[in-house]
Amino acid sequence: MTERTLPAPVDAPMTVRQNPRYRPIYLDTYPFLRERCMEVKIFDERLRKIAEAMVHTCAEERGIGLAANQVGVRLRIIVVGVTRRKPPALTPDAYVFVNPELKYRGKKVMHTEGCLSSPGRHFAISRYQRVNVIYQDLDGLPQRCSASGIIAACFQHEVDHLEGILPASRGRTVPGRVIG
Ligand SMILES: [Zn+2]
Repeated sequence: MTERTLPAPVDAPMTVRQNPRYRPIYLDTYPFLRERCMEVKIFDERLRKIAEAMVHTCAEERGIGLAANQVGVRLRIIVVGVTRRKPPALTPDAYVFVNPELKYRGKKVMHTEGCLSSPGRHFAISRYQRVNVIYQDLDGLPQRCSASGIIAACFQHEVDHLEGILPASRGRTVPGRVIG
């Protein structure tokens, strides 16, 4: 796998969690969050472990989505659609999108987004109403799906992370809710 180990985050929240699959989330001051993530080429048990950790971490933080670089893994993996109503004690497969590529559909609309790497802040960002997503599952098989509304915005938010783009550089700060 092309993952390389990153230095420990200097300013990750020191939250103690019961869940052993929880990983501390890197804050937006961490320089690696501004770098592009690398394509996943090896689909093995290690990838599945990373994906599981991402789903659990996202759920613990009450986020809708999370990108791998937010937990210190510089690979093109995102989780989308995680909510507190769907505790991911189950398989991560339903939430994990590897090497995602987006095709934009519809008009752009304003969304208010939070980011788990920017706690307490929210941003007004213009996003496409719908996306078609081409991705690979955890077995490396090509898949596709489509999304609209807040889930479409979440895909765009997480793929921004994979490109090293933080929400603070997309929109102005406003009151609002967390996406991931
Ligand atoms: Zn985010």
